[in-house]
Amino acid sequence: MKSQDIRSKFLTFFEDKKHLIVPSAPMVTKDDPTLMFINSGMAPFKEYFLGNAKPKSSRITDSQKCLRVSGKHNDLEEVGYDTYHHTLFEMLGNWSFGDYFKKEAIDWAWELLTKVFKINKDILYVTVFEGDESEGIPMDQEAYDFWKAIVPEDRILMGNKKDNFWEMGDQGPCGPCSEIHVDIRSDEEKAQVPGKDLVNQDHPQVVEIWNLVFMQYNRKANGSLENLPNKHIDTGMGFERLCMVLQGVQSNYDTDVFTPLICEIETITNSNYGKEDEVDVAIRVVSDHVRAVAFSIADGQLPSNAGAGYVIRRILRRAIRYGFTFLNQKEPFIFKLVETLSAQMGKAFPELKSQKTLIENVIKEEEQSFLRTLDQGLLLLDRVMEDTKTDTIAGTKAFELYDTYGFPLDLTQLIAREKGYTIDVEGFDAEMKKQKERSRQASASETSDWVVLKEDDVEEFVGYDRLKVDVRITRYRKV
Ligand code: ATP
Ligand code: MG
Ligand code: MG
Ligand code: MG
Repeated sequence: MKSQDIRSKFLTFFEDKKHLIVPSAPMVTKDDPTLMFINSGMAPFKEYFLGNAKPKSSRITDSQKCLRVSGKHNDLEEVGYDTYHHTLFEMLGNWSFGDYFKKEAIDWAWELLTKVFKINKDILYVTVFEGDESEGIPMDQEAYDFWKAIVPEDRILMGNKKDNFWEMGDQGPCGPCSEIHVDIRSDEEKAQVPGKDLVNQDHPQVVEIWNLVFMQYNRKANGSLENLPNKHIDTGMGFERLCMVLQGVQSNYDTDVFTPLICEIETITNSNYGKEDEVDVAIRVVSDHVRAVAFSIADGQLPSNAGAGYVIRRILRRAIRYGFTFLNQKEPFIFKLVETLSAQMGKAFPELKSQKTLIENVIKEEEQSFLRTLDQGLLLLDRVMEDTKTDTIAGTKAFELYDTYGFPLDLTQLIAREKGYTIDVEGFDAEMKKQKERSRQASASETSDWVVLKEDDVEEFVGYDRLKVDVRITRYRKV
């Protein structure tokens, strides 16, 4: 089944159950000071859950564009290295605002997966909140009983507060959740380690696909919980992961959401996916990041020097660097992928079509300017190497390259190594530490369009500079 059809089947399934289909909200938030980007399906509906606004329908279904690159949910470091976390992804959801509750949410999720999508029941596991004594929250017996009526008990696993209890913030609606996980390993692998031992263990073929949140409590300012008068359902299913399961492949990147982009990258860069780990990581990074950047520009958030624009710029630069280092791209090339992306996704997200030229131009310009700095940085590095008396380049110099020219340490190391030099990494780390200290002090007094409400909610962009390849995944590519 094609990804297009998977998305629409999900939506029409819930439409048949009296849900109103709504389009994805823009990914870039403008009126939520605690959030830079929409990072889950529920974020655009927050006000409904809080009772501050009334939805058009008490049952809604949608596919929401999400970006997890900052704040509490930051998956950027994993992207490219694993095969199931993206920066931008679609979250399919069905919503009940004070309407149906656990029984329907559970029954329908199961019906959709096993009857409509015909996923083999034997590869599915479900989790139920085990309760938390310290907080006096009981185990979710109701959900357990509803699952028990349709799923063998040895497939129902108990989960802790971290994985199976969802809270919007320090206060407000919250509740237990049940998640559905798939085990798509081979029979031999299953015989060695039972799937239930791998659920929530970061295994690339035992992954979470759907989270059903049962909002039944309200957390009060004093931390205590009371029952909500209106109970709500909030579910989120990773679209690309669902496609992986339904298309019988072992990685999101082997679904038709990504293969057209990957083919195009292979052609443009004259590389092959599936042959060499470093190249594979780079190809995954570029194919993922071009989506995030393109959708963001289409939503009106251009790369810039501050706030959300800066996050987007750095995502794009991360892609440029992987392309530069591992795909040998010294000229702009990422902008060329927009054509493929908009042809493939433009139907579901028309903004990609209508803004295509803008997206291409912006990306191309960013690529040009960053590649220029990369070039200047290379010149500087040459000079540094000429001036260095020993075979070790000072950490301060490597840091200057990083700080001024956007050179990640690994890139510097790579180039230096080719010429027989090593880098004083400790010195580099010390400089980095000093700079973090400086920016921490500076940000304490900084103001921007993003008003910081609570310290916990501060958006932070971290982990931009891992450019090392430590592939922890097993990839099985169907050719
Ligand atoms: P994981 O444990 O795999 O990181 P999560 O528990 O953080 O996922 P939720 O917040 O429960 O994810 O989001 C609902 C669903 O969205 C998940 O079940 C998963 O299918 C999907 N999802 C979450 N993060 C990503 C991501 N970075 N890329 C692609 N899909 C994702
Ligand atoms: Mg996560
Ligand atoms: Mg999880
Ligand atoms: Mg989850």
